[in-house]
Amino acid sequence: MKASIQVVLCKCCTEMPALLDMAKLEKLASDAPMVMSVVTVDAACDGKDLARITSEAKDKEVDRAVVLACHKKDISPALLKAYKRAGVNEFMVELANIREEVVLPHLNEPERAQKKAEAKLRAALNRVTMLEPLEKSMEPMGTKNVVVIGAGVSGQAAAHAAAKSGAHTILLEKSGKSLKAPGVILTHSQVIGGKGYGGNFTLKIKAGEKIEDLDCAAIVIATGGGWTQLKGPLAKAVKDAIPLYKLNELLQAGSVPKGPIVVVDTPDPAGKTLKVQDFAWDETLEIVIELKKRSPETQVFVVFQEMRAFGLSELAYKEAAELGVTFVRYDKSGTPKVDPKMPSKLAVKDSSQGEVLNLSFGTLVFASIPANPDNMAIAEALKIPMSVDGGVRRGSVQRWPVSTPRPGVFVCGSALFPKSREVAKVEGEAAGTMAGEFAAKGAIEFGGSIAEVTSEKCSACLTCVRTCPYEAPFIGTASKAEIRKQLCQGCGMCVGICPSKAIELHHYTDDQIMEEARTLLGGDF
Ligand code: SF4
Ligand code: SF4
Repeated sequence: MKASIQVVLCKCCTEMPALLDMAKLEKLASDAPMVMSVVTVDAACDGKDLARITSEAKDKEVDRAVVLACHKKDISPALLKAYKRAGVNEFMVELANIREEVVLPHLNEPERAQKKAEAKLRAALNRVTMLEPLEKSMEPMGTKNVVVIGAGVSGQAAAHAAAKSGAHTILLEKSGKSLKAPGVILTHSQVIGGKGYGGNFTLKIKAGEKIEDLDCAAIVIATGGGWTQLKGPLAKAVKDAIPLYKLNELLQAGSVPKGPIVVVDTPDPAGKTLKVQDFAWDETLEIVIELKKRSPETQVFVVFQEMRAFGLSELAYKEAAELGVTFVRYDKSGTPKVDPKMPSKLAVKDSSQGEVLNLSFGTLVFASIPANPDNMAIAEALKIPMSVDGGVRRGSVQRWPVSTPRPGVFVCGSALFPKSREVAKVEGEAAGTMAGEFAAKGAIEFGGSIAEVTSEKCSACLTCVRTCPYEAPFIGTASKAEIRKQLCQGCGMCVGICPSKAIELHHYTDDQIMEEARTLLGGDF
């Protein structure tokens, strides 16, 4: 194997040298076979250092690199782009996380940290010699349509933002409510199936009684929270209880519901099934303030287990109290109850006084918001994972807060987890902009680290077809499994489960993984 390797040692400002002997690592790298360049930088994510790295890579004509730095996700996009410019294939760059995996866990054990860092460097050097350059391919998109599912606050914001980015938007709304939004608006419509991949999706839509196919390049899930799905003993006992958003709608329409008004944090007194999150408290405070301003004589109680009015919302809490809103705190031993025989009295043990209060009410309002049950069917149709709370799961909280793990599918607002209207609107704008920009690319990139079947080994058992969460494998015309490259996300599930060992994941082949593991196990972990 002929290779020309560059090793980059990132100091992560001062963290690495504070614990590790950088000179020793530099020597280890310089003495390793096929290493043509060793560069130590202050921060591999910094533009100046990146320029230094790539200029040396060009000068020394390296064809691969090992980079010892921090978490891959933090540095890799810019670093890989820079290497690409220097003529190094992105799949020939091996990143070793020294900060989170060596320095931080061993802050008080410098010797152990040094040994571990050296082992990781050796393992990365061994692995990088086994890597092969991989290419990505492009496929044109058949449409610039962006479909937005749900026409609430976040959905409408997403449609406007996507249209601004040049996309043709199609807004799907389950109800028949009249709407103002750019592009096409389909009311009484919902997604019942879908196939394809980011850039070239075909959704099956039920529009009224009709079932139609709809091509689109990107999708925004904006289904909102399941405001209407209230359950639990309180909801059962008080049939005409209303959710918080309904109270807000009434206020906006100029009417104040019958008092006294009790806003309670959950319709489930066991507090097990529904959580009240920070959003609901901000919203609750805003609404009760409005209520008291409109109708100062109406008695208003807020019954809660844990009030989380963060930051400046504390001021809203204070304002509500000054306007006469009574806050009643309970703990789990005294959860609120309504006797169905007296459906206008809420009994709750006030934890600050230790007394049971019987609050008469004209209107009971639930502040909690369950996840929208529609999420499940949509996630299934689009093959995207759900969170444990029943929301749609996003790609990464820090880097892709409105993206899902599936390219081309974005998510916003309470479809993720319940949140305030303001946040939902901002997220809708972000998701719509991203979906619009995705559609505007006009072509999709795929390939690289994806699975490939060796057809001679395949026994057509269908295990991979049934296992892949993205529906990438299929049985082709030769009665052997094949992988649709555009759909494969390189998760590796099919590789591990194939009983005939017929599938390999490029960039993570058995040989590459074994070689790396062998070297690592020689170290002290
Ligand atoms: S799991 Fe393996 S043997 Fe079975 S169909 Fe897929 S590739 Fe073929
Ligand atoms: S690697 Fe993952 S996404 Fe690709 S075909 Fe296998 S299971 Fe599907």
